Amino acid sequence: MFEDYSDITERIAETPKWWDENGVPRYVEFEPRRAANIYAVEVVLLDIACSMCLRRFQVALSGQGGAHRDENGVSLADQIRSGDIDYCDPPNYGNCRDGASTGCFNLAVLQYWRRDTLRDWERNASLEIVLPEMKNYDDRYK
Ligand SMILES: [Zn+2]
Repeated sequence: MFEDYSDITERIAETPKWWDENGVPRYVEFEPRRAANIYAVEVVLLDIACSMCLRRFQVALSGQGGAHRDENGVSLADQIRSGDIDYCDPPNYGNCRDGASTGCFNLAVLQYWRRDTLRDWERNASLEIVLPEMKNYDDRYK
């Protein structure tokens, strides 16, 4: 479950455009360099929905391409290909008291970016796909 960051969201009238890896609201257009993890070599923008109220959010995940000790050699690209990439809980926003700790539907990869050391971010549209959980979301929405 994320902090609700109402100290930020209540001072800014517009709805956040996207949320970073820590559930922090962002009001600029998404770019991979704006991820919280400045050491990331992979950054993904995901379309998710709260599992309770079904509200949609755009959220970022980042990684080290499988090299970080917590990643066990599995990159975000690997997770996308296996259909098993997960933001876990939705951003804690919008008075959804049920949804803050109940998980989310991971619906689609909107943007996938990777960089090699010292090189610019490169987008790979072949990994920008609808994820298997979109079907579960559609079933709930009916
Ligand atoms: Zn919700």
